[in-house]
Amino acid sequence: MLQSAIEEDIKALVEGLNYKQKVERSLDLLEEAYREYGESLVVANSLGKDSVAVWHLAKRVSLSIRGFAVTTRFKPPETVRFMEEEVARYPELRVFRSDGEIPEGLYETDPDRCCDILKVQPTRQAIEEMHVRCWGTGLRCTEGRTRVEFQEVEQRDEGLLKLNPILIWHEREVWQYLALNGVKVNPLYAEGYRSLGCEPCTKISTDPNERAGRWIGTSKCGGECGIHTRPLKLVDGAGI
Ligand code: SF4
Repeated sequence: MLQSAIEEDIKALVEGLNYKQKVERSLDLLEEAYREYGESLVVANSLGKDSVAVWHLAKRVSLSIRGFAVTTRFKPPETVRFMEEEVARYPELRVFRSDGEIPEGLYETDPDRCCDILKVQPTRQAIEEMHVRCWGTGLRCTEGRTRVEFQEVEQRDEGLLKLNPILIWHEREVWQYLALNGVKVNPLYAEGYRSLGCEPCTKISTDPNERAGRWIGTSKCGGECGIHTRPLKLVDGAGI
């Protein structure tokens, strides 16, 4: 299925499968990845609703599946507390962050560089240190304009498969899954946020686009931090 998923018509699956079928498909993808990659299948957990859904699905496949969370000095206190609770509950969830110096206000002057230093580089470190050969993410193609072209299975970096097990889920189906399974979520959702990130770059928005509250007022508005678009395996230091 991992190989055949690459060929699938994603748009047809988004509208053609019902909630139950999507959950089964996601579990199948994770099961197959776990059979093939074992310990080197690792789930990235951004501590947002999509990530905690994928984390819950992965734990249904095997309790031993490991994960990593990337945090930054700019995460809201609610997210930090939620992360600490999750790590206490799941010691196999490792936290990575960059503490290097960056210019003040870099998130305003050059948010791409800020995200690269604070998010992309610690993700590369997690992949390296945890010997990841397949990483699972909570990416969804219905989340916004920058996410429509992804596949459930991607081979962007040599030696590193990317698995997006809930790629075809609607936002409503994520909440349906979390509610039906009693999964705890970041308390910021109760405040009205729909997509969570660092404090200076995340606002509550009433725009229909789920990611519209991210990086408002910058060239990155509604966009990406780079984890899903930049190379994650470095060849002779390239890609930084
Ligand atoms: S989301 Fe904002 S503060 Fe966080 S790393 Fe990216 S630019 Fe920097």
